[in-house]
Amino acid sequence: MRYRSTRGTSTDLSFEEAVFEGLAPDGGLYIPHSIPQTPLSEIHQWSNLSFPQLATKIFRKFISHEEISDADLADIVTRSFGTFSTPEVTPLKKLPNVAVGNGNGDLENLYVLELFHGPTFAFKDVALQFLGNLFEFFLERRNRNSATKFGITVLGATSGDTGGAAIYGLRGKKNVDVFILHPEGRISPVQEQQMTSVLDRNVHNVAIEGTFDDCQVMVKAAFSDQKFRRRFHLAAVNSINWARILAQTSYYFYSYFAVLRRIGTPSGASSYAALTKIQYSVPTGNFGDVLAGYYAVRMGLPIDRLIVATNENDILHRFFQSGRYEKKQSRNGSEPVKQTLSPAMDILVSSNFERLLWYLSIEDRRSTNSDADVCAKHASANMVQWMRELRDKGGFTVPETIFNSSKGLFTSFCTSDALTSDAITRYYHHQYTLLHEAPKPYHGAERPALAYVLDPHTAVGVVAAEQLVATSTTPTTSSIKSTHTICLATASPGKFPEAVLKAINENAPALSPQRGFKPLTYADIAPRELVALEGLPKRCLHIQSPGDKLDALFAVIEDNVGAQFPAKPLSKL
Ligand SMILES: *Cc1c(COP(=O)(O)O)cnc(C)c1O
Repeated sequence: MRYRSTRGTSTDLSFEEAVFEGLAPDGGLYIPHSIPQTPLSEIHQWSNLSFPQLATKIFRKFISHEEISDADLADIVTRSFGTFSTPEVTPLKKLPNVAVGNGNGDLENLYVLELFHGPTFAFKDVALQFLGNLFEFFLERRNRNSATKFGITVLGATSGDTGGAAIYGLRGKKNVDVFILHPEGRISPVQEQQMTSVLDRNVHNVAIEGTFDDCQVMVKAAFSDQKFRRRFHLAAVNSINWARILAQTSYYFYSYFAVLRRIGTPSGASSYAALTKIQYSVPTGNFGDVLAGYYAVRMGLPIDRLIVATNENDILHRFFQSGRYEKKQSRNGSEPVKQTLSPAMDILVSSNFERLLWYLSIEDRRSTNSDADVCAKHASANMVQWMRELRDKGGFTVPETIFNSSKGLFTSFCTSDALTSDAITRYYHHQYTLLHEAPKPYHGAERPALAYVLDPHTAVGVVAAEQLVATSTTPTTSSIKSTHTICLATASPGKFPEAVLKAINENAPALSPQRGFKPLTYADIAPRELVALEGLPKRCLHIQSPGDKLDALFAVIEDNVGAQFPAKPLSKL
């Protein structure tokens, strides 16, 4: 499998090159030349595989054997998911039906897919444990028969979770130094603690005075400085990296099968879609997580619908309403990025959205032109033009046909902080409203949980699911069972304790205290490992205004790893 840039100038890279480069030199994102179609009969054969076995099957389709052998791929995948605290890697749980009595039957079938059982308790571990091992594998292979050691400098920006997950994925890895920029004071204290308490020599945290988007702009600027980029062998780990998207396709397949197992489909079912409707609600920021769902669909997994759930930084929701992709402008000195209860989704633009737009463009053109190259060129020309309009005019509008086709699979919802908080309250306090009810019989099925502690990001997705289940576009016919909705749970509630504890403790409905509710503490909602971080020593560099922050960043990198990357090519020294 070969890779090309969405903007059309780099067109023939190996998987390894796409992974190391991250962002293409023309500013585009790497995508595979084709998306391998997998017949339903083959997908069905995967339905009882373990998580690592399943992931290996999927990844194999995007990585040629000449690049990574079967044995090596299986080994990389097994080690990557072996750091998760449960063999299921991403367990599926049923949410309590807090809408009992409200007459909406489909809320019976709401699940959370817990993606947060990795080392940093956020879904980004799924991708970054894999990416860290890929880097290590490729570098070891390059260095095996070489006198000079080839190393890389990973540079990334984080609004919180990426940084932690990247650092835990790369700490202590040979031939890799990692610099992670975060907006000072704008990530949760737990995340800050988690990143800066990693003291490995190859890990460098850099706190930037500014927003996450400022950090992202600096990273992009460093990558587009070709001299700097080549000298330090820059590599990216933020969500534009293709290997991250690929890694995330795995849990769409895994959870799809998990739902089917739970509800019991006839064995050998040749058409899942006719039997069950499964849709996903995905709390979305940079569009990486939900894009992986799109690839799963294009591979052949019969997902009914992908719900793009945003917080009030709603550029994507506005796109799916109008076909116009437009940055929010600052008004009266206010910042365009709004700080919300779900900070990992506080973005101005969604970098991975370009990949979807590319596919929508090429599909659109394919309906009238059968020459694949011509269509690809057309899609890339669209990207160049739209991204220029985004930069110069703050936004662009896609043609009607493209907008309409996006709505076939995607729908969206924007969840306010008030609704986010309310959901956290409801899913926890539900148990106290049940106490007076007679127990219901459960026909052999697992007894649903009585309460669930949502993190604020997951809550954004759950609210979107609740709102949209009722408005399902495809009508339920008698041959189709009701819709099952999987909400991706992207972080442990222990990573965002302020919002979670406030919602649960301060909004306790009158009923709860009467029935024995005691306010929760951090230790009640956080994994032990997170609680244990408190008070550990930290290490972090700082870049402040005024002054050119990009120059300051270059100086920081020079100071720390400059000696390993001489300014002149080695041969000339
Ligand atoms: C990164 C992140 C998201 C958003 O994922 P994208 O791939 O950027 O859309 C949602 N929730 C949490 C907790 C995250 O860390």
